[in-house]
Amino acid sequence: MSVVIIGGGQAGLQVADTLRTEGYEGTIHVIAEESGLPYQRPPLSKDYLAPAQEPDPLPLRGASFFEDKSVTLHEGVQALAIDRAKRKVKLTEGSLDYDHLVFATGARNRMLNCPGASLPGIHGLRTLIDAEALHAALPTARNIVIIGAGFIGLEFAAAALAHGCDVTVLEFALRPMGRALTPVMGEWFAAAHRSQGVDLRLGEGIDRFEPGADDRVGAAVSTTGASYPADLVLVGIGVQPNDTLASDAGLETSNGIVVDETLRTADPAVLAIGDCASFPSARPSPSASGVGPECHRSGPSCRTHDPRG
Ligand SMILES: Cc1cc2nc3c(=O)[nH]c(=O)nc-3n(C[C@H](O)[C@H](O)[C@H](O)COP(=O)(O)OP(=O)(O)OC[C@H]3O[C@@H](n4cnc5c(N)ncnc54)[C@H](O)[C@@H]3O)c2cc1C
Repeated sequence: MSVVIIGGGQAGLQVADTLRTEGYEGTIHVIAEESGLPYQRPPLSKDYLAPAQEPDPLPLRGASFFEDKSVTLHEGVQALAIDRAKRKVKLTEGSLDYDHLVFATGARNRMLNCPGASLPGIHGLRTLIDAEALHAALPTARNIVIIGAGFIGLEFAAAALAHGCDVTVLEFALRPMGRALTPVMGEWFAAAHRSQGVDLRLGEGIDRFEPGADDRVGAAVSTTGASYPADLVLVGIGVQPNDTLASDAGLETSNGIVVDETLRTADPAVLAIGDCASFPSARPSPSASGVGPECHRSGPSCRTHDPRG
């Protein structure tokens, strides 16, 4: 028996751990395209960015986990294609046969495509590499503009304030964290951030970025025409599920890999879990407009418990 798990994040490692805890004795392979020991993402927008903090990523499991639990970690290896008829995963290095395949491929950041969006100094925050770049840039940054008042944007705003930066947040919607929180809670968070000195601009999206004297980002121009000086920009406008590998393999996707209540796809040998999965949800999510449910499946950008989408 062989289980292949694609993705070495929270979901993938939890699957491996639980299989062993529940007594599964077959082979377990975890395919992880990021190099190094799999790490926790939540601290990357919190303690990791604190002033005078020496960056130290928190591993999801200790180094001995893989040997102790007989889990083979293929780090720095990407899954490229699935042959469901042959139950085979093609990797950047060779291939693996499976009896059960688990997608735990997570999500990636949504990108902006407005003018100037690729100027140096404009960052995202998802991976350890992203966090390292921000950690290095924050001590010398002065004027920070954040696009998106979701959890990531507002956590980064707090971190930037702690570095003594001037912080402006542009949010297209009329309240922060609208996909996840009720209006009352959103207003509470807006007031809390403003009281700490964040210039939170609601109902104001990004129109374009303009270069400064050094060809790095110099200003963010909003949809109202207002121009905000910016030597560092964080884009936190949500995520989209990594579901292309699954759709290329003929599996149904809809804001994530479509699974049932037991996380199975229509193929009984294939499952999906975590940010890449779109699963039935009994609870409607608070909509950005606050008028009611917008979807009854939970994926990374439409979920009831984790609003980072
Ligand atoms: C900065 C930050 C702060 C957060 N803070 C919180 C918080 O406070 N509370 C909370 O509940 N949630 C938080 N989250 C969200 C939480 O981290 C995610 O929900 C969680 O990481 C999802 O786990 P996952 O395993 O599904 O996906 P991921 O963590 O995205 O892991 C998926 C992994 O699969 C890999 N992968 C993808 N495709 C392939 C492939 N083809 N081959 C091999 N590997 C592949 C990816 O590189 C990635 O390493 C935060 C997220 C971020 C980015």
